Amino acid sequence: MKSDILNKSITEFWDNKIVPTLIEYIKIPNKSPSFDPDWEKHGHMDRVLDLAVKWTEKNKPDGSVITIKKSPGRTPLLLLDIPGTKDGNILMYGHLDKQPEMEGWNEDLGPWKPVIKDEKLYGRGGADDGYALFASVASVKALKEQNIDHPRILVLIEFSEESGSPDLPHYMDLCADIIGAPNLVICLDSGAGDYKRFWTTTSLRGLIGLKMKVEVLKEGVHSGGASGHVPSSFRIARSLLSRLEDEKTGEILIDELNTEIPDYRIEETKNLVSILNNEVVEEFPWKDNMKPSTNDNVEGVLRRTWKPAVSIVGVDGMPSTANAGNVLRPYTTLQLSMRIPPTANAKKAVHAMKKTLNENIPYDATVELQFEKAGEGWNAPESKPWLLEAIDKASKEYFGQMACSMGEGGSIPFMGMLGKQFPQAQFVITGVLGPQSNAHGPNEFLHIPFAKRLTCCISSIIADYK
Ligand SMILES: [Zn+2]
Repeated sequence: MKSDILNKSITEFWDNKIVPTLIEYIKIPNKSPSFDPDWEKHGHMDRVLDLAVKWTEKNKPDGSVITIKKSPGRTPLLLLDIPGTKDGNILMYGHLDKQPEMEGWNEDLGPWKPVIKDEKLYGRGGADDGYALFASVASVKALKEQNIDHPRILVLIEFSEESGSPDLPHYMDLCADIIGAPNLVICLDSGAGDYKRFWTTTSLRGLIGLKMKVEVLKEGVHSGGASGHVPSSFRIARSLLSRLEDEKTGEILIDELNTEIPDYRIEETKNLVSILNNEVVEEFPWKDNMKPSTNDNVEGVLRRTWKPAVSIVGVDGMPSTANAGNVLRPYTTLQLSMRIPPTANAKKAVHAMKKTLNENIPYDATVELQFEKAGEGWNAPESKPWLLEAIDKASKEYFGQMACSMGEGGSIPFMGMLGKQFPQAQFVITGVLGPQSNAHGPNEFLHIPFAKRLTCCISSIIADYK
């Protein structure tokens, strides 16, 4: 394979076919069903599916077949089956649903407003990971141009990832014959430690979503007349939270949510920190003098990749400060996002959380717990020597640097499912979500030059498939 020709071909394909399409894609507010319960009525998902299918029809390699599955009441599934010229079965994964808007976008930017600045494409969902379908097709087409053999490749694009992939198990069953047993899974939905090399993700945390509602009164009353005698719903919620989390350290107190970190992952983290140094701290937009939870960078990275942590991501029952009367409010609802270690058992973790929050509730307040379907984490199986070599070779060729691996603190529910279902499969989990790219937050961007190099690396790895 001629790497300069591959590079040129993929660069042009990105400029001419991918970036213009991503610009159209970013304009469509195709929020995942969790954030847009009326998504079917709104029709954004249909618009995205239509855009993806039309593009794929136009650009797919000769002989490949598009299949669309759409079961009633479920988000769709898009499959592109590219017949192989040698043995093997590769599954390439991505998703076309998006996170909600979030506040805090810079004045000249916005979630549904594509803007290119300093070779970065800003807008929601371009990097996470709207580019995956298009980059996957690009990587295979570039191989075909040079008549390089490749295994059968199935590109699988789902539309419910940001809601925890609730529709995927159904489609995995429905499409079991088409999917077969993948030997290699390539996922483009993950992160990068910097923009200087090819990164692989070796672990993902699991995720438990929970709505916790604490009710103390049938209706709100004057806080002057009631506070003190009537316990505050917020104080009760706070004390329940303290059963889960040490509020001084952020440590999660429940055994079932903690696991032993494998030694080889600690070593991997030390290597990562030796490459990135203080970038592992500086990648976050700290306010003023704010400091991380630890000064030990290895421990800090492990805390966000291998340890549990809870975030309060939403609240109901509380007016904004501008509308806040002096009222003892009847209830407080908190939305909890609990990240759990890659090897924790999500079911047991949910059970333990339920038990902890339901016992001896202060003042017999009414507490309602609504758990979302928990997502398992994932710890990569050991990679075969050919794959490690192929990854390093690709990174050296297109980045001029050795590849590096890391744990990710986020979740990709499908990887957990695949790891369980196909224990013999190898994984290349990578992505363009590097420092400041801010998927899920404001000012999300796709680093275009990095995405081009990453696509070249994927071609190279597929070409070296054994
Ligand atoms: Zn994603």
